[in-house]
Amino acid sequence: MKNYIYKCSNCGAEFSPAEIENDFVYLCPRCGKAEKNKPLVGVLEIEYDYSEIAKEYDKEQFLNFSPGQFWLYEKLWPIDFTKTNREIFVRLALPRLQLFRYTLKNREVFIQDETRNPTLSYKDRASSLVALKAIELGIREIAAASTGNAGSSLAGICARLGLTSRIYVPKNIPEAKRVQIESYGAKLEIINGDYDAAFDACLEDSNINRWYNRNTAYNPLTIEGKKSAAFDIFISTKGEIPDYIFVPVGDGVIISGLFKGFNELLKLGWIKKLPRLVAVQAEGSNALVRYLKESVFDFKPAHTIADSISAGAPRNLFLAAKAVTESRGFALSVTDEEILNAQEEFIAATGIVCEPSSASVYAAYSKLVKQNKLGKDANILLLITGNGLKDIDSLKASLANSSETPAISKRILPGLTTATQYSGLPLPFPIRVSAGFLVTGLSGNILIQTLAPLLTCLVIATLAASIC
Ligand SMILES: [Zn+2]
Repeated sequence: MKNYIYKCSNCGAEFSPAEIENDFVYLCPRCGKAEKNKPLVGVLEIEYDYSEIAKEYDKEQFLNFSPGQFWLYEKLWPIDFTKTNREIFVRLALPRLQLFRYTLKNREVFIQDETRNPTLSYKDRASSLVALKAIELGIREIAAASTGNAGSSLAGICARLGLTSRIYVPKNIPEAKRVQIESYGAKLEIINGDYDAAFDACLEDSNINRWYNRNTAYNPLTIEGKKSAAFDIFISTKGEIPDYIFVPVGDGVIISGLFKGFNELLKLGWIKKLPRLVAVQAEGSNALVRYLKESVFDFKPAHTIADSISAGAPRNLFLAAKAVTESRGFALSVTDEEILNAQEEFIAATGIVCEPSSASVYAAYSKLVKQNKLGKDANILLLITGNGLKDIDSLKASLANSSETPAISKRILPGLTTATQYSGLPLPFPIRVSAGFLVTGLSGNILIQTLAPLLTCLVIATLAASIC
């Protein structure tokens, strides 16, 4: 007997796990709609018997669990863990240390660092749960549409678990994310359009081929998987959860998953109030900000450098809006210029290489601190969801205004002879030569070090010849 049900977020209808899971149903069978360039209607949420779970664990016991190992508390997941070899769980582990304290803009803040997850983004939380459900259902092939992170995450998690992944991406996907997806052995489909087009194509092909679909928000386990960050924050702070959490918002699944996790902690009686969720969007992709103001959704194609939060039609718009209003939070947008400036400043101040979508939360935080909009003693957490090395062009753009290409040093150290411009050898980099040992721009290059004595002789011979 399973301890959970599926409940429609739109009409409130309830369904047993068998009614949803046995026949590839994702949205509410009564009112669900997945229409082009529109938020999904009838997204399903998973509900548990919280009074039963409270009998299983108490707060102190839960706080002794380790962050990053969600399978330790089985009752809070819609998975039959007996159908999975427990030895594979460690392949899904996130770092145990995720929460860091920094002084930024003259006040202390927490940073929840998701840049070091197995595939370097927050999306691993959802991919892991989806993959475990696929294994439980006996399915070996999973498909997903993605701006890059969800796809590389699913591809990486599938590679870890021996499953096949099919990833649909828009043509403007950052190159590093595309290469990452391909290197995991995924089957990649590049769509000649934007993320919204990739989403629709992936749904169509999944239905035809009966692949398990991980499209964000569409598969209810994506929201469910993303709640684990709330539990990790709860454990890492020893139950002293922050007053505000700044969250980057594209499709709206991270913020709704986070809200669900904290809401469950509230239902279990382990926290007294919800953290206020601050939804941060890019100005060129701010459907949630507009929806919260006007209570209507109007589609505008998204344009922003922050590809991970670029979504003209946020698929989980309605639950994201609920997360903001029910947590007494708010939403704001920041410009691409503010995002790039924030990215440069944040990385230099913290040593955490974040991508533009994550930098947007620091841009929003900086803006609100400047405007004195955050209470002096408020406890703040910035959620950093993706690694900046997955989007090297944006990283370079964030540095473009403040630095030039570093010049190669012409410094000559005492006792060294330079041969930087020696034209007789096809070397692409400057070399300093000293007593048969080379120091190159590629430190640790064994081949070069092996060739060092020979090259040294050549250089000395050439210099001698030119003197003669
Ligand atoms: Zn419904």
